[in-house]
Amino acid sequence: MTDNAHLLALDAADPLAHLRTQFHLPLHHGEPQVYLCGNSLGLQPKATRAALEQELDDWARLGVEGHFHAQHSWYETHLELRDSLARLAGAKPTEVAAMGSLTANLHMALTSFYRPTSSRFKVLMEAEMFPSDRYAMASHIELHHLTREEALIELTGDARGIISTDRIIDAIRQAGDSLALILWSGVNYYSGQRYDLDAIAKAAREVGASVGFDLAHAMGNVPLTLHETAPDFAVWCTYKYLNSGPGGVGGLFVHERHHGDASLHRLAGWWGNDPATRFTMPRTFVPQHSVDAWQVSNAPVLQIAALRASLGLFDKAPLDALRAKSLRMGSELRALLQERLGDKVLLLTPEPSDERGCQLSIRVGDAARRVCDQLLARGVVCDFRAPDVVRAAPTPLYNTFEELGRFTEALAAIYDEQPWERPVC
Ligand SMILES: *Cc1c(COP(=O)(O)O)cnc(C)c1O
Repeated sequence: MTDNAHLLALDAADPLAHLRTQFHLPLHHGEPQVYLCGNSLGLQPKATRAALEQELDDWARLGVEGHFHAQHSWYETHLELRDSLARLAGAKPTEVAAMGSLTANLHMALTSFYRPTSSRFKVLMEAEMFPSDRYAMASHIELHHLTREEALIELTGDARGIISTDRIIDAIRQAGDSLALILWSGVNYYSGQRYDLDAIAKAAREVGASVGFDLAHAMGNVPLTLHETAPDFAVWCTYKYLNSGPGGVGGLFVHERHHGDASLHRLAGWWGNDPATRFTMPRTFVPQHSVDAWQVSNAPVLQIAALRASLGLFDKAPLDALRAKSLRMGSELRALLQERLGDKVLLLTPEPSDERGCQLSIRVGDAARRVCDQLLARGVVCDFRAPDVVRAAPTPLYNTFEELGRFTEALAAIYDEQPWERPVC
């Protein structure tokens, strides 16, 4: 059995423990589920309902006047989130926007920052990047009358899907001045590997390539210093670690050095126009001097309200304490799994703490889907990734150390009932 006293002591000493009470925890037979799926859909903050009701009340009470007279003026409500997002992204407030959706924002950014020429047209990506990124990138390559075969360089990982920084840098240098863009994850959705974004951005600059990051699994999970790291752009979603709810508003970072660059190609819309003249309905587009130049439509007020409620919780939490708890949870979980299950499971996620975030990707072999279903039947929520991986992501905002023991015991009990074939690397 796991050493429960040790885990309970960690919970008792946890300076962030009170935050759990700020969330709705789904129940299993009347008790909170062990919810380790915040990397897929974060839980609902209790403050979200009131934030949404405020907007609904303002709409009911004010109609169109809500654009200026709602408690959170709809006209500017997206700007209220900039400081909170900037803190999480390590960026300037003018570099980050809550807007659109991850993939739509990626298309926006690729339009500006993937500008292939006859000699510089290649794109470097992870072979195992999230499908949406792959489809988006391929569609831009084809939009420029290139083929994936000629333009795409895909880097595959080792047997665990891990790609070392050295290999990434080598690939960048090898492609040299044929490289137009590097599109890379902050944290890989499958392996849980956190990449060295500073090293990647630096190598990109050295060969004169643009660089963009997909931070879907990084925002609200690992420390980011986007202004200093200085990619050209980054995109993220907010319904994973940022708990904004299903289909929540996306995010875009564009580095300050591109603000006000009139030569950049941009898919424009009225919300990207200078607000001083927006309502004089000028006939030609005057881009704002910030990331907001990439906005196209007026803000999705209900989604923004939901994100505001959840960012309120991050605002109050010291980021280094969140990170420290996240790392500790990961190492405790790793130790528990090794102790109780040994080589019945294989961890894909690297152990050095700077190479991971909350998520541990656990290879259990062919039984992975069944194991996830049986975990759920025991009140433990993880997710299955084909063909053989269970992802578990203890998040510092609402998970406890004691839950790590319950997850491990549930997994061990499932094995004891119906052993699976041990995974090989
Ligand atoms: C979750 C996720 C997405 C989702 O894209 P949406 O546009 O929000 O549907 C994209 N990329 C990565 C890496 C993800 O993890």
